[in-house]
Amino acid sequence: MFIELIDGLRCTADHPSICLVAAIFEREERRVIEGTVGCPTCKLEYPIHGGVVSFGAGPQTGSATESDDLLDPDGALRVGAFLAVTEGITIALVGKWGRYAPAVADLVGLRAFAINPSETVIESERVGVLRSDNRLPFKAGSLRGVAIDGSGWLDADVAQSTHALAAGGRLVAPVSTAVPEDIEEIARDDTYWVGEKRGALVTLHRR
Ligand SMILES: [Zn+2]
Repeated sequence: MFIELIDGLRCTADHPSICLVAAIFEREERRVIEGTVGCPTCKLEYPIHGGVVSFGAGPQTGSATESDDLLDPDGALRVGAFLAVTEGITIALVGKWGRYAPAVADLVGLRAFAINPSETVIESERVGVLRSDNRLPFKAGSLRGVAIDGSGWLDADVAQSTHALAAGGRLVAPVSTAVPEDIEEIARDDTYWVGEKRGALVTLHRR
């Protein structure tokens, strides 16, 4: 993973998050190939191996039983439209959505993280690859879009994932999961729903 992408990563343990500290064993210019990122708060260390940062093993089966329903020539455009992507934002694409990370990143000039991708995803300064046990290891409010596939995220996992979204950020998840409380559903088809994170409530003061 490229160093500038590591900056946005946070520990997935249940404590207030601060920047992780990277230890680099092998690198190619700005790309860290082997190393660790450590949490200064709880002292957990997450390995970087072959450029991929592991916050957990992720699904063991790679969802092999699922059909390749997301192998779609227009997949990058589709997920880009779902997430209303614009230049300069950061998004996370989980499971099979991950394969579209490089194409979406190139399409509009954004940063895309592929999480537990079902196939090899080529890293770049705009594309990072990581594995995680159904947690999004990102700074709170730092993502403008998250797309989750059908790779076993429970309602609680989806609800927990919204912390990484900025207000107004988009979340796509399978219809088999509940729409979290802080997400307003804006569209739904047979497979996915699309929602937007509600903004913080503003207190109105009367004079
Ligand atoms: Zn920690």
